Amino acid sequence: MINFVRRHIAVKLFFSYLIVVAVGFIVLATSAELAVPGAFSRHLAVMGSMMDSMMGNDASLMEDLFQSFRSAVSEALLVATVVSAIVAVVASILVSQQVVAPIKEMMQASQRIAEGQYRERVEVQGSVSRGEVDELGALAISFNRMADSLEATEEMRRQLIADVTHELRTPLTTIQGYMEGLVDGVLPLEDETFLAVYREADRLKRLVNDLQELSRVEAGAFELDLQPIAPLDLISPVIERMSPQFAEKQVPLLLQAPESLAQVNADVDRIQQVLVNLLGNGLQYTSAGGYVRVSARQAGSFIEVSVSDSGIGIPAEQLQQIFTRFYRVDKSRSRAGGGSGIGLTISKHIVEAHGGTIWADSPGSGQGSTFTFSLPVHQ
Ligand code: ADP
Repeated sequence: MINFVRRHIAVKLFFSYLIVVAVGFIVLATSAELAVPGAFSRHLAVMGSMMDSMMGNDASLMEDLFQSFRSAVSEALLVATVVSAIVAVVASILVSQQVVAPIKEMMQASQRIAEGQYRERVEVQGSVSRGEVDELGALAISFNRMADSLEATEEMRRQLIADVTHELRTPLTTIQGYMEGLVDGVLPLEDETFLAVYREADRLKRLVNDLQELSRVEAGAFELDLQPIAPLDLISPVIERMSPQFAEKQVPLLLQAPESLAQVNADVDRIQQVLVNLLGNGLQYTSAGGYVRVSARQAGSFIEVSVSDSGIGIPAEQLQQIFTRFYRVDKSRSRAGGGSGIGLTISKHIVEAHGGTIWADSPGSGQGSTFTFSLPVHQ
């Protein structure tokens, strides 16, 4: 019995109402018991003389009157108690329906989500737009929000597995093709063939390294070693390191930044990793005769660093998507260049971990692009 009460809100509610009715009854009955005789005698005393003159001083009549007055009070009390108990039953059923039904619905929905049905949502009672929801409505809204994010995470996980499988399959298939050609004697046993296999294996290795880095930054599992540093001290070593590659492709690498820029708060290695990625992309997507330029300026409490190129540009509708992992504007082109479509995603996580933002601008295909990231000025 106690267990049954413990497990059902409706029964608990009913008993709580019943206790209120019982306490009300006891208080009323006790106060009536104490107050009725006094009130009755006071009333009779006032009416005493009138009664005397009309009926004589008859004690049994007084007793009769008192008894019928008392039973009338008791009857009224009994009726009130029975009616209150019935109201308690009806109210507990109605209230518990309002409370228990949504909770039961949420319980069933959470079970279905646990079984992998991530589309499951519960109905929210009341108008959300007008803010007319009670605590249960708010709970249902939170529940649905949690279900949304679980569904999105699950979708991301599924997409990641599909993407990684796809990315790994391409170089593996190529390596397998070369090997089969070698075994069958279709391909010549020469340096060029081995180099081609080596390049594919190298691409695989880079992809695996990128994936490892991606999973680390996406999980936020990296510590930033922040220190105040002048923007030029961040940029110059990267330009120096990458100049030979630019010279080889005959793409001038330019720098345009005032000496006097305020210091930024940055993890030097991480921000240089972002710069290497942006410069590498600039070089990859710009043909000989074009240029890549790094510039820096102050914008409020941020320093903005831009990498502009005169390369192939990016269509306006894809400017946002290129920061999504594995997204490439021209799939075959950037894959052939060794691109995995992960670099910008990693860069975005790194810049955001610094409290900055990163974005891309481009007037359109064939008209170059500019990647800008901001870093908070050191206070
Ligand atoms: P990837 O390794 O493929 O370059 P990124 O994440 O660095 O991966 O870039 C994602 C995509 O964004 C690239 O595949 C390319 O389509 C586009 N992109 C990046 N930088 C440039 C650029 N400077 N000019 C034109 N397109 C670019």
